[in-house]
Amino acid sequence: MTRNRDSAAPFAIIAAAGSGERLGAGGPKALVEVAGRPMLAWSLSALRSASSIGGIVVAAPPGFEDAVADLCEPGERVIAGGATRSDSVSAALGLIESDAELVAIQDAARPLVTAELVDALVAALAEDPDAAGVIAASPVPDTLKRAGEGRVIAETVDRSGLWAAQTPQVLRTEALRNAVDGSRNAATDEAMLVEAAGGRVLLHDPGAPNLKVTTPADLHLADLLLSR
Ligand code: C5P
Repeated sequence: MTRNRDSAAPFAIIAAAGSGERLGAGGPKALVEVAGRPMLAWSLSALRSASSIGGIVVAAPPGFEDAVADLCEPGERVIAGGATRSDSVSAALGLIESDAELVAIQDAARPLVTAELVDALVAALAEDPDAAGVIAASPVPDTLKRAGEGRVIAETVDRSGLWAAQTPQVLRTEALRNAVDGSRNAATDEAMLVEAAGGRVLLHDPGAPNLKVTTPADLHLADLLLSR
């Protein structure tokens, strides 16, 4: 572990409290095994190895706090997540007492995250003092259709300039705290809250697979990629 000991070093929050219903594995997605380890363990390893990161808090599936704590190292903290993703992130934010200027949010559902990606995002934000955050994202490769009633195509959406948001998302802690406080908690990512509050958030293409595990097919693909 190369944990950054500076008390102002960025903190990481892992959102791991989802039920994983769409995966249908019979338990929380973060604890489902992928390439020989629980999915959450991959994000924990990457964040531990990121030299920029000073500490980790995990939002655990309620009732599975002990199972999550078993994967953590001393100093890493666990809190029960909430009903929504924003509730889970808010709960974890409440545990961060350090004067960290930046916070990195990571979905346990993206086990291909790397320490290099985390450090590159932190460095990109450090280089742009006027930005409120920077997120991993990729340009959308497909032609996009908006569905109308009865799944009839209502519209083809111009894909130029469209990016698919991923995690990690590195945000200024103050901007995130303010945005989360004023939110209606329906956000599907944290950047969205900061953007809505007027923050300038940058896009950073990981340039490597960073897929989100949602379906059994995603799990199989992540397993193949991580087993290499
Ligand atoms: O449900 P979805 O796959 O979009 O969730 C994205 C991430 O947010 C997952 O890592 C999941 O564990 C987390 N999450 C959470 N608390 C919730 C819902 C989702 O931490 N209530």
